[in-house]
Amino acid sequence: MAEPRRVVAVELGGSKVWCAVGQGGALQQPVRFATTTPEETLARVEAFVASQGEIRAIGVASFGPLELDRTSPHFGSLLASPKAAWSHTPIAARLASTCGVPVAIDTDVNGAALAEQQLGAGERLSPCVYVTVGTGVGVGVATESGLLHGLLHPELGHLPAPSLCDFEGVCPFHGRCIEGVASAPALARRTGRRPEELPDEHPVWSLEARYLAHLLAAIVLAHAPRRIVLGGGVLARHGLLERVRHELVVLLAGYVPRPELSDSGVAAYVRPPALGEYAGLYGALLLAQPPGS
Ligand SMILES: [Zn+2]
Repeated sequence: MAEPRRVVAVELGGSKVWCAVGQGGALQQPVRFATTTPEETLARVEAFVASQGEIRAIGVASFGPLELDRTSPHFGSLLASPKAAWSHTPIAARLASTCGVPVAIDTDVNGAALAEQQLGAGERLSPCVYVTVGTGVGVGVATESGLLHGLLHPELGHLPAPSLCDFEGVCPFHGRCIEGVASAPALARRTGRRPEELPDEHPVWSLEARYLAHLLAAIVLAHAPRRIVLGGGVLARHGLLERVRHELVVLLAGYVPRPELSDSGVAAYVRPPALGEYAGLYGALLLAQPPGS
């Protein structure tokens, strides 16, 4: 009998790490710990791997930005990161060296896009775009031929924001990009309160819906996705997803003549994630163990 193909899936987030064993498409023994220094955090990942016996590969879905150009000697390393201590950490090279197995790596949002496309709300449609709105705003794009990379990977959270208000934004690079005006820290700076403490009727939610609709309109026009999955902590706000859908249809003004961009069809088109907090971890599993392998 063939030996089961066991892998380790790692979601390396900005504040927490998930590790799990993947076998036969299922995740087992998920454990979570805080993201601290690169040395301490990667040592804990290595200890998890070492405790699992023989594995075939490691899949990592990491916060970015990442070097994903396979011709680069720095493939799988973080680029200059807002988490300064992590800048230029060679994540993939280190894990491959210390664990002695191949390491597949992509961004956490690309991983989540792949997982939602293959196993969740994307229903295997291509392109499938995953958008998360929380501490940051991230976008991953799963196409028919794989996850989208080029000069970099998609960073549409940093799309310049339209002038809908005079808030200066919080992005250290751009001030007023979508992440700078619509992330959880932006909401907190704008209102002086934690987003989860704001009432549903607070006027900032209308503005939030319009900013996110601009991001989604750019995604529709640039990538022509057949499905958009929109999640993250900020989207837990009651009624926000519905408002974003409505504003998206208004903004596109009938230009994309598809039922998905109509008042009656948009709810099936812009969907909440189906995999919840495990989307990135399932993405890491699929990176390590592509379907059909
Ligand atoms: Zn920005």
